[in-house]
Amino acid sequence: MSGPAAVVLLSGGLDSATTLAVARHEGYHAHALSFRYGQRHTIELEAARRVAAALGAAEHVVADIDLRLFGGSALTGDMEVPKARTADEIGDGIPVTYVPARNTIFLSYALAWAEVLGARDIFIGVNALDYSGYPDCRPEFIAAFQRVANLATRIGVESGEVRIRTPLIDLTKAEIIRLGRSLGVDYSLTATCYDPDQHGVACGQCDACLLRLKGFAEAGLSDPIPYKSRPVRERAGPGDSYPNG
Ligand code: ZN
Repeated sequence: MSGPAAVVLLSGGLDSATTLAVARHEGYHAHALSFRYGQRHTIELEAARRVAAALGAAEHVVADIDLRLFGGSALTGDMEVPKARTADEIGDGIPVTYVPARNTIFLSYALAWAEVLGARDIFIGVNALDYSGYPDCRPEFIAAFQRVANLATRIGVESGEVRIRTPLIDLTKAEIIRLGRSLGVDYSLTATCYDPDQHGVACGQCDACLLRLKGFAEAGLSDPIPYKSRPVRERAGPGDSYPNG
């Protein structure tokens, strides 16, 4: 393998798998980084491992950091994951599945690794359209973190070229799925659900499942993963939409 090195944040979900495929397609030697951060389930880490292997990542590292020390999120703490929310509810404010400062923490780890690797590119699959209202998925945040990255590191000071790459930032979920399909992503390997059962079967009702199912429906494709139940509104017409779609 040749090509420049890049660090790719890989959660095991649909967006990060597509982002890894973009990095590989652009010729990067992709160093995939996942986190065991105290999330409710580790099914997504198994998915990340499968995706990294399938898409030819140069290596896949899982960093252990325990965000349960602080809690404050339905994904790490003892709050319930909201289910079957309406379009208005999903669009209203920052949900309890937000993990405090998670992307800042993840990007900081990615930056440290990138500096060691001599990699000037860090890929993250944030998306400003079909997202759940998280502040650390916005373009303003990414631009600000890129400034930090170049101020904070030797590689940034000496080269001024660290880039936070967000190839999905302006895409709808349907466009992300079409892009990934065109790059050979096997979405049956990915895991998106915030609250899967003990066998890893997606709930079909959390915000992440709803956005994913809506994306496949709008792309005119069927989602290859199994669901415990699917929302009734998935079968509704195109006039029925979730926010930002
Ligand atoms: Zn779910």
